[in-house]
Amino acid sequence: MPLTWLDRAGSPLLALLFPDDCRLCAGPLKGFPRIPVCASCLDAPAVNAEQHYCAACRTPFLNARPLNEQGLCRLCAAGFTRFDAAYSYGNYHGGLHGLIHLFKYGRMRPLAAPLGRMLSSALPRDQVFDAIVPMPLHWRKLLVRGFNQSHLLAKELTRRTGIPTEPLLRRRRHTAAQAGLSSAQRRANVAGAFTAGSDAQGRRLLLVDDVFTTGATVNAAATALKRAGAARVAILTLARTDRLQNVRSLQSDSPSERGATE
Ligand SMILES: [Zn+2]
Ligand SMILES: [Zn+2]
Repeated sequence: MPLTWLDRAGSPLLALLFPDDCRLCAGPLKGFPRIPVCASCLDAPAVNAEQHYCAACRTPFLNARPLNEQGLCRLCAAGFTRFDAAYSYGNYHGGLHGLIHLFKYGRMRPLAAPLGRMLSSALPRDQVFDAIVPMPLHWRKLLVRGFNQSHLLAKELTRRTGIPTEPLLRRRRHTAAQAGLSSAQRRANVAGAFTAGSDAQGRRLLLVDDVFTTGATVNAAATALKRAGAARVAILTLARTDRLQNVRSLQSDSPSERGATE
């Protein structure tokens, strides 16, 4: 990994910028680590322990309530799902929420390494993929944030699995923020937002994103890849929000949970 200006500046400046407390639990840090998060916070996020999965998309649930008699989640039962499987490391709360927030909004890029390790551990080893596709950011958002968090995670996964990262998706237009929209509004908001080139033709693709909320965004991206001829599209995310919440919002079509957007 290339040295950042912070590395070159040395630890006195680092100490000035990062007081030696963990950014998540405020506990003391040893020395001046590149990531100002203590070891126990980095290890804290627990993996998904759910035993209930949608029979079609494999999205995990905390209990069987969101699944119908055929074992399908509401999105699959309604025929909205265009991806073949969805894997996730954990739930978007507690320590994992804190780490993702520091990574994305705190722009703490070195967190890509430990988060990439978690992402890699959530990938079933019996699945074969030809390429890892990062969820693209619109250039305006890229300009503001300075990096695409999904691309950093994808590259980390490439380092661990040897599967190449290929940015096969493009954002066609800028979409309004998803937070505060109902599921139907989210689907309308992102429909047609992505395009994919002929490089997707006949290939088994792993679409990587940080957070799986209602699935509307990844579903729109999967639709574009399938239209471009992809043989298979699976989704891999670090965290998912509580799908029970999303199922309720699907049923009532009321504004769903705020917070997680791309
Ligand atoms: Zn800590
Ligand atoms: Zn499903």
